[in-house]
Amino acid sequence: MDRQWLESVCEFSCTAAILAPLPGPWAGQGQPPWAHPHVDTWKTSTQIKARLQRRLDGNMTRLKILHHPDPRLRTKATPVDTFDSQLAEFAENMLETMYAAPGIGLAATQVNVHKRVIVVDVSDTKSEAYTLINPVLEPFGAKIQGEEGCLSVPEIYESVERFEQVNVTAQDVNGEPIEFTASGMLAICIQHECDHLEGRLFVDYLSSLKRNRISKKLRERSKTLV
Ligand SMILES: [Zn+2]
Repeated sequence: MDRQWLESVCEFSCTAAILAPLPGPWAGQGQPPWAHPHVDTWKTSTQIKARLQRRLDGNMTRLKILHHPDPRLRTKATPVDTFDSQLAEFAENMLETMYAAPGIGLAATQVNVHKRVIVVDVSDTKSEAYTLINPVLEPFGAKIQGEEGCLSVPEIYESVERFEQVNVTAQDVNGEPIEFTASGMLAICIQHECDHLEGRLFVDYLSSLKRNRISKKLRERSKTLV
C-alpha cells in the first residue's frame, strides 16, 4: 500500500495521510494497518472504519448517476422484499457514490435501480449514514424554506419548502425495522430522497418558468459534456 493511494481514498480528501503501525485501542481488532490524521474520528466511527476497510479490500463500486431530464428519473420505485448480501452491497455502493460525488443523500432511482432504497448522511464527518429500505414518512410541524441541490440536477440550487420534522419508519439492510424522528437538515434530505422514489425531483416544486430554464440549461450542459 503506498501513501499516494491511501491519500486518494481518504474520506476527507486528506493530503497528509500517515502510514503507521497499529498501536492503540484497535490493536488486534481487525483494524486497517495504518493510522490517519483523522484517527480520532475514525476510532469513534465504526461506519468510517468499515468503509475504509472495504476500500482497502477493493470492495467498492461507484455507480453512475442519472441527470435530469433523463426520463428514468421519473420511474416510481417498487418495494424491496429480498434482504440479501446483494442488497447490502448495493447500499454500500450507493454510500460510496454519494460520498464521492460529493453529496448528502442518494436514492436508488438516481442510479437507475428502481427499488425503495435511500442513503443519507448530513454529518460533517461522514460518519452518520442512514441506509433506509422501504422508507415511509410522516412529515409534521412547520414548513420551512431551504436551499436544495441534487446530484441529478448538477450545479442548480433553489429554495424549496419542506416540513421541518418527519417521522421515519423503514427497514435496514437486514430487514430489521427502524423508526426515528428527524428534524432540520436530516428531515429535509430524507424528504428530498423519498421524492426520488416517487419519480419526483426538487425542481418540480419550482415555477414552470424556472423549471424549463433549468431543463434547458442541463440539456445544453450534457451536450457539451458528450
Ligand atoms: Zn436529489
